[in-house]
Amino acid sequence: MPFPERFLEELMERSDIYDVVSGYVRLTKRGSNYFGLCPFHNEKTPSFSVNQDKQIYKCFGCGKGGSVVNFIMEVENLSYPDAIHFLANKAGMTVPEDDGDNRLPNLRKRLLSLNKDAARFYYSLLGENEGAVARTYLEKRKISHKTATRFGVGCVPNEWDRLTRAMKKLGYTDYELVEAGLAVKNNKGSVYDKFRDRLMFPVIDVRGEVLGFSGRTLSDAEPKYLNSPETPVFSKRRTLFGINLAKNTKRSSIILCEGNIDVVMLHQAGFDNAVASMGTSLTVEQTRLLSRYTSEIDICYDNDPAGIKATDRAIEILKNSEFKVKVIRLPDKIEDGKKIKIDADDYIKQFGADAFEKLISGSDDRVEYALVNLQGKFDISSDEGRVEYLKAAGELIATLGSPVEREVYGGRVAAAVGISAEAMKLEIDRTRKRKIGQQRKKMEKEALSPVSALQPKARALRYDNVRSAAAEEGVIRLLIRDPEIIEACDIDTDEFSSPILGKIYSIIRAKLNEGKAPQISLFSEYLTEDEMSLLVRIDEKPESVSGSREALKDYISVIRTEKLKDSTDLLALAEKYKKTKGMEDKNVE
Ligand SMILES: [Zn+2]
Repeated sequence: MPFPERFLEELMERSDIYDVVSGYVRLTKRGSNYFGLCPFHNEKTPSFSVNQDKQIYKCFGCGKGGSVVNFIMEVENLSYPDAIHFLANKAGMTVPEDDGDNRLPNLRKRLLSLNKDAARFYYSLLGENEGAVARTYLEKRKISHKTATRFGVGCVPNEWDRLTRAMKKLGYTDYELVEAGLAVKNNKGSVYDKFRDRLMFPVIDVRGEVLGFSGRTLSDAEPKYLNSPETPVFSKRRTLFGINLAKNTKRSSIILCEGNIDVVMLHQAGFDNAVASMGTSLTVEQTRLLSRYTSEIDICYDNDPAGIKATDRAIEILKNSEFKVKVIRLPDKIEDGKKIKIDADDYIKQFGADAFEKLISGSDDRVEYALVNLQGKFDISSDEGRVEYLKAAGELIATLGSPVEREVYGGRVAAAVGISAEAMKLEIDRTRKRKIGQQRKKMEKEALSPVSALQPKARALRYDNVRSAAAEEGVIRLLIRDPEIIEACDIDTDEFSSPILGKIYSIIRAKLNEGKAPQISLFSEYLTEDEMSLLVRIDEKPESVSGSREALKDYISVIRTEKLKDSTDLLALAEKYKKTKGMEDKNVE
């Protein structure tokens, strides 16, 4: 075991789940639990709950649940030992040193410090003679010295080991350089710089740690932008370039752009609320990060096909979120009769900051944006095209929850196509009725198939024998609620049909043998996040403690009967197989 038990128990006592979660989620008390918007999926109404008595959380939307340690693992993207270090740090406790599993948290610390030193080194090179090419590039892009400094922009010349040599002098090892994604190992085993001949943008998180880098080529080399690979400290889907600065903005919204240069230019032009998703489409993790600082997102991707696709995907991700979403539509630029791609950087340079400000305030909300996009797909000069467009628009508007919204957008579509608002309203209402009917049917179907409702959400944990598993869950629940009945619990772990339930049962037994209460919040050490979510779900099902001994007996008898059935089924199957086989054999004769 990596951490001494006494230490973990004290850490759990000092890390109250309500206090810790409150740092990420606004919680309000409802009944005996706290509720808030789930930090792990997008939603408008809170389905994420915290139970302070049990020291666990659970989301009724996405099914995630667990202890304070699981919460930190998930929300901060940390491994179990790292989450323990994180919480200990918060609680002002020192983690007892041991030689084995402490390596990883130390590695994390080393990589963060290496990244910071690398960023300093790149930055210093920009001021040297060899930074001339990079400085010329910045001038050409009209990025001022002040702006470059604010973002910690640096550069690296076209050499194989410029950074590697410098960092080794500071005491970093080849292993650490490779783990940080700053160096690559060749097949002879020696390492060389991953980033060469590039303008370097450090990717900095909200705490000011340098997580990784994004390098823009200073030649014609491909790729144009090279990002750090996934490392123990850098995960692209959880990071936003510029969030370290944008989190302090006085503006109410956050502007989401495509590239780092866009972010830098927007900040320079006074839009200190710009961030970039670094070449990936927006992820749920990134929207959860943004939700800590704003409830309004202005999407400002390039106006080329890739940018339009990324916009659609971002809208899809944000559809069920609490965010107010606007889409900034960069105008087309026509040169020699051809459409030219334009990004935020180009726009500001050409038309200035005031024009961009006007573009933001006049930009479409996500419904308008979707309707305009939709209209572009039909030929509304023909009757046929108009009917098709009206039907498609009706489908879209029918999904809006607010009747006012449906009326406003319905009216707009009607006016655009030249039909009466009443006719449009009829179309929308009919579509909506049909959609609600479909949804109800789907829900009824789900409610009628209790087997699927009983199954764990994580596919890998699915039960083979649902009846037996339900009884096994019952045994676990009873032992958690009323640990004293362990003396009457004579079932063995290997009698359990579900491996994960057997595992939970054996942990409970071990805890009770040591004379400790099987508190769910202490299970994170032994279970994966999916397994923890399952345990929380098992525990929340009703189970009466009165008559628990009889209930336990019943559960055990169900488990044994099912096991017997399974094995007799097997026997019968074997019998049948033998018979058909025999028949086949006879046929052959
Ligand atoms: Zn959730």
